[in-house]
Amino acid sequence: MRTLNPRLDIDLAAICANYRLIAAAARGAEAAGVVKCDAYGLGAEAVGRALRRRENCRSFFVAYCEEGAALRQAIGPDAEIFVFNGPIEEGLLAYSANALTPVLNTVEQAGLWAREMPDTPAALHIDTGMNRLGLGPEEIPAIRSMRGLNIDVVMSHLSCASDASHPMNDRQHQIFSEIARAFPRARKSFASSGGALISNEYAFDMMRIGVGLYGVNPLDAAPNRFAAVATLTAPVIQLHAIRAGEAVGYGATFVAEKELRLATALLGYGDGYPRAASNRGAAYLAGALCPIVGRISMDLIVLDVSAAPDSLAIGDRAEFFGLNHPIDAAAAACGTIGYELLTGIGGLARDRKGLGGRVHRRYLWNGSPAPEDLAGAEGI
Ligand SMILES: *Cc1c(COP(=O)(O)O)cnc(C)c1O
Repeated sequence: MRTLNPRLDIDLAAICANYRLIAAAARGAEAAGVVKCDAYGLGAEAVGRALRRRENCRSFFVAYCEEGAALRQAIGPDAEIFVFNGPIEEGLLAYSANALTPVLNTVEQAGLWAREMPDTPAALHIDTGMNRLGLGPEEIPAIRSMRGLNIDVVMSHLSCASDASHPMNDRQHQIFSEIARAFPRARKSFASSGGALISNEYAFDMMRIGVGLYGVNPLDAAPNRFAAVATLTAPVIQLHAIRAGEAVGYGATFVAEKELRLATALLGYGDGYPRAASNRGAAYLAGALCPIVGRISMDLIVLDVSAAPDSLAIGDRAEFFGLNHPIDAAAAACGTIGYELLTGIGGLARDRKGLGGRVHRRYLWNGSPAPEDLAGAEGI
């Protein structure tokens, strides 16, 4: 069945180019692909295959062991898959069945792993100041005296990686360097996308790269060095004109000051596009950036297309972020960040056979349909 739908185009070649950019900046450190949350909504299986098969990426991070199991199916046996959330007793079988490596975040998780999976490699997460997840420095002696624990990777996470000049960065780096010395045989991992750009000193042995791969700028105050990856477009299903004084949308929050041409596009907050962009955001259509007017509703967004050419027609696609309208600008107009915009749209797109899946995903390679060995039979 062919219907008019919003569409999320994902260029896997751009993801690979972004991977190479980071890997080249790393002076020998390994770049691991962070593909948690279904690769930030873009599809962990296709992204994992592209990084594994085209870039020889050998290490991946997911949040849940279910994500790890699905990724293992997609990329095969010859890569390491780390699970950020760490193990619980009932879930241990999934680790051995899918050759997953846990990130141990607490003394309890470390004890469980040492007892049930003795000498099996694990990563250790040290909290160096973010106070979110990981072991505090005072817990390290308990870890070191634990028998059966095989710590292969020691990692920590920056809390201010988007701000290159934040003093937290160096403070965390110092604490991490000191604690990591207690594990001389383990590989060290510290930087996410932002950290990798801030300093070569942060690269250590393995960087964990997420958002940069997906074309979002990891730094607040620097130009984006990554190529655009994801493009969200929605078809126009109605065109009409309004006179000065007429209102648009629920609550009549927008009132035209002059005659305007409007286009109604098939996209709404039900597809994960934030309602917060009402009367603030914009979409790129027929060569012009067209403001969103009125409130965004569940299925529909109205654009002021007065600046677009007369040739604009039903079925033309408005770009809500992508090559012509950068995702970081679109996210800012929604009062959020690229991470949330991507995972919000992509989270609903993933389940597109279900009722929520109205945004169709399409995988590309340099603008053409992606090869099936990457996209899978379903992805095109
Ligand atoms: C999500 C995450 C990353 C990746 O961060 P990006 O900013 O997307 O590169 C790395 N490490 C940890 C612990 C994470 O939770």
